[in-house]
Amino acid sequence: MSAGAAEPVVVLGAGLAGLAAAMRLPSKAVTLVEREETVGGKARTHRRDGFTFDVTGHWLHLRDTTVRALVQDLLAGEGLVEIGRRAKVWIHDAMVPYPLQANIHGLPGEVRRRCLAGFLRARAGRLIRRRPPPESFDDFVVTQYGQALADHFFTPYYTKFWGLSCNRLTSDWLSGYFPTPSTAQVVGGALGIRQDSVGYNTRFLYPAKGGIDLLPRALLEAANGHGRLSVRLSTDVDEIDLQGGRIKLTSEPGWLGWRALVSTIPLPDLLDRIPGLPPRIAAARRELRSVPLRYLNVALRAPTMMREHWVYVPEGSYPFYRMGVFTNAVPEMAPPGCAALWVEIADRSGLLDLSSVISGLERMGAIGSADDVLFVEQRDVEHAYVVFDDARQAAVDLLLGWLAGHHVFSCGRYGGWAYGSMEDAILDGFLAASRVMAINGRQVQRGGRGVSRYPL
Ligand SMILES: Cc1cc2nc3c(=O)[nH]c(=O)nc-3n(C[C@H](O)[C@H](O)[C@H](O)COP(=O)(O)OP(=O)(O)OC[C@H]3O[C@@H](n4cnc5c(N)ncnc54)[C@H](O)[C@@H]3O)c2cc1C
Repeated sequence: MSAGAAEPVVVLGAGLAGLAAAMRLPSKAVTLVEREETVGGKARTHRRDGFTFDVTGHWLHLRDTTVRALVQDLLAGEGLVEIGRRAKVWIHDAMVPYPLQANIHGLPGEVRRRCLAGFLRARAGRLIRRRPPPESFDDFVVTQYGQALADHFFTPYYTKFWGLSCNRLTSDWLSGYFPTPSTAQVVGGALGIRQDSVGYNTRFLYPAKGGIDLLPRALLEAANGHGRLSVRLSTDVDEIDLQGGRIKLTSEPGWLGWRALVSTIPLPDLLDRIPGLPPRIAAARRELRSVPLRYLNVALRAPTMMREHWVYVPEGSYPFYRMGVFTNAVPEMAPPGCAALWVEIADRSGLLDLSSVISGLERMGAIGSADDVLFVEQRDVEHAYVVFDDARQAAVDLLLGWLAGHHVFSCGRYGGWAYGSMEDAILDGFLAASRVMAINGRQVQRGGRGVSRYPL
């Protein structure tokens, strides 16, 4: 059997990466498969009783001019607001501006002295002798910022965030996302000169009416062309036959042939649907690790006293590591006089201790009293964060290369088994579409089954 020109490109997953890929491919040639009832993936929005909640904060930090123009164009009708970040770290019972390493004036006197001295020692050490690349994320923060900042913020915060020891993580997972202030900025911050403009995310865009799902919905419309895109919602994948170039979906009895497959579903889930993996591929698949996310949507019947968009909470006495307020960005995300919050919980498997979450929010000034809480919803997300350990990169390189050899392009944050923003997911989808189009008209051999052509 060889794939024919009539066979579609199958795109698995209708998050931003899958939608972007579908948008770049000719719509009549694409079948888009999504397990959920709606498109959007992590960029989904839940609405209830006039409250609007994204999957925690989903702000558009756009660095790429093409993506910025696309988003502005797609959401021109809905409108976008541009907002200056208000982010803090709640530490030693005070709100310290984010990033903490550039604002240590907010820490108590003795802690401030130790953090500054530690930072200067670390910088001097790096100037005096060349060091080998850091072995772990722990090493990285100590080398960059000194032991005291690591002890007071980085290690406790990221241990809560990951739910595992930072010794097990490589130092590259946040590259491009980690605020790296200069020595002058850190010293200035210690002297009380507030540093608000450090980091990639000082300003962000967001749909003016609230709800990041407006973006994937607009992308779907753009991808749909003149209604020729075939979209299968509430459909999972049963099995993938790589040699035969066909896929079995849960929504239909037979097999569907494909010319190429763009997969944005989590990489291990994709591999688990391919029977008979060669041993080295099966071994690499076993190296893929992730951690889940547990978060709460909190609806308040009263306004919040907090001004911040989001707050980092490193201290172990609080059961959450980050929280934020949607309505501080767009007040329309709750009925008038109300507020919509999210809270990211450190313990992702035990029983939720809601009263300690509420009392933590009260101590921080996020809520006036427990009576203000109208409802709380708990939500869990599998594979929220890919674990960047020593084994990840080699395993991912091997797996993506092997899949591409069968015309399966696995991309997006979870298809590429990486850390990335919404912008990265869109760019990844575009790239996968170009890779599919690059096989257009080329003589290709799939799985040793003879030669066939894959025109698009
Ligand atoms: C907590 C959190 C906060 C974030 N905050 C921000 C932020 O503020 N700004 C920012 O730019 N980025 C943020 N991101 C990152 C951003 O959400 C992702 O980069 C982006 O949404 C990933 O898109 P994707 O299409 O690659 O993956 P996904 O959104 O995961 O899409 C994959 C799709 O595949 C579907 N699927 C899965 N399995 C199957 C299956 N077996 N069959 C069919 N379909 C399947 C899923 O339902 C989903 O729709 C955040 C991410 C998280 C987890």
